[in-house]
Amino acid sequence: RTLFSLHKSQEVEQTYIMIKPDGVQRGLVGEIISRFEKKGFLLKGLKLFQCSKDLAQEHYKDLKDKPFFPKLTDYITSGPVVCMAWEGDGAVASARKLIGATNPLQAEPGTIRGDLAVQTGRNVVHGSDSPDNGKREIALWFKEGELCQWESVQTPWLTDTD
Ligand code: UDP
Ligand code: MG
Repeated sequence: RTLFSLHKSQEVEQTYIMIKPDGVQRGLVGEIISRFEKKGFLLKGLKLFQCSKDLAQEHYKDLKDKPFFPKLTDYITSGPVVCMAWEGDGAVASARKLIGATNPLQAEPGTIRGDLAVQTGRNVVHGSDSPDNGKREIALWFKEGELCQWESVQTPWLTDTD
């Protein structure tokens, strides 16, 4: 919780962002993290992690009946991913905008997928699609104690407290 969330006595929204194995292999980790950092969200958790098929299936369970589900879970388990929890008011929807459309050919220039990818099946990054899924996915990918509670010196310069 940030200084200003305490002040508002409300939970601050968190989103689960994951750099997929192609993003890691293509050397895009710094570039992608940088976009969220520069936007002004607060990094609460970060790790490089190779996940099991079970975890990939649980993460994408809403898509389990889609024809691409087996390929998708193969893709997500094909190498290490970078798991991140980012916090801020409106972080879920804003991160989805920064990421861009699922199909990178339809993603706007300036978005991560629009700038850095060409195929839906290799679209370099994941972002939660709702605050509830943000919570669910952060709980799924991070263990107790892996998230840091801290205050950024930037917060007062990013926040209008009125
Ligand atoms: N995906 C795919 N083929 C499709 C649709 C989706 O391979 O036709 C993959 C793609 O990697 C996408 C992920 O499945 O990012 C999850 O799909 P979703 O519709 O949730 O897209 P997202 O929320 O990632 O934009
Ligand atoms: Mg999705």
